[in-house]
Amino acid sequence: MKLMIDMTLENWQSWAVARNLPAYRAPQIHQWLKRGITTVDEMTNIPKSIRELLRAEFLIDGLTVEHKFVSALDQTTKYVFRLHDGNVIESVLMHYKHGQSVCISSQAGCKMGCTFCASTGAGFGRNLSRGEMLAQVARIAADSGERVGHVVIMGIGEPMDNYNEVVRFLRAANDPQGLNISLRHISVSTCGLVPEMLKFTDEGLPVTLSVSLHAPNDQIRQSIMPIAQNHSIDELLRACRRHIEHSGRRISFEYSLFAGVNDQPEHAKELAIRLKGMLCHVNLIPANEFEGGQFQQSSRRQVENFQQILERAGINATIRRELGSDINAACGQLRRRLEA
Ligand code: SAH
Repeated sequence: MKLMIDMTLENWQSWAVARNLPAYRAPQIHQWLKRGITTVDEMTNIPKSIRELLRAEFLIDGLTVEHKFVSALDQTTKYVFRLHDGNVIESVLMHYKHGQSVCISSQAGCKMGCTFCASTGAGFGRNLSRGEMLAQVARIAADSGERVGHVVIMGIGEPMDNYNEVVRFLRAANDPQGLNISLRHISVSTCGLVPEMLKFTDEGLPVTLSVSLHAPNDQIRQSIMPIAQNHSIDELLRACRRHIEHSGRRISFEYSLFAGVNDQPEHAKELAIRLKGMLCHVNLIPANEFEGGQFQQSSRRQVENFQQILERAGINATIRRELGSDINAACGQLRRRLEA
């Protein structure tokens, strides 16, 4: 089934020409889609006959809200969407001082197999299209009634494993005729697919690149992240340094702390040596425990100690605040339950 949200303005122009419709209908239809509409009848400036054509040929975005959970602690809202073919994804709306941010999924499921990640358990469904990523943002903005100014691609899936659609999504999200979100307000998080990272650097898109490192050496990284068997930390950090050089932007390293695995003082020291001199920031994430998961969260003291060692060695490090912990806001947890 074709999705309207996957159509570019140029696609609508050809569509209108092929149906002998006036050219101005193309931008009119295109404009409606970024507003997160759920029925064709919301297109009030489009005549009924054209709405019928649209209805016969397309779905709007194919998304239905399967569940919505609002955190009583911080208003963080988790959306579980079902896609037109039955696949399930999750997206999260977060409220910050700087505005609203949406965390989107890039795939239904994930192939990367990180041992600590809830997304792995439920297997891989398929890649999301550019439009299905746009729709997560548009639908959540419409539902919340507020502008979404920031997007993080940190939900379910590995964005570099769905490279083309993710890059198309970034361009469309940035389009002034579309969602008009500054690329500087978009973060892309990868577990480190080096060849795609090199290619991504060459796209020259000024987004924030986040790299899931989670270990100070290959031995630990390989024990928790299968991708580390394909690319060593040295190779990964070379790609990161190249990205920093080409983009002039700092990289954000994600480091989740798992008790007894990667959270010891010697791990912090080893990490500091590896990252020395790099234009980067380390985001320390208290591990997210979930049912059936094999890792435990490190103690608060351990996390703070880890941060201090990095800071003292001159590495910028912050501890990520946990949002929506009462609603399983961290991605993958609900899909896991639904697909099980
Ligand atoms: N595939 C992308 C996006 C994944 S989710 C990537 O790997 O970066 C965003 C972050 O959450 C990643 O850093 C991921 O490694 C981390 N993560 C996944 N499960 C986690 C858990 N149970 N506890 C803490 N962090 C986790």
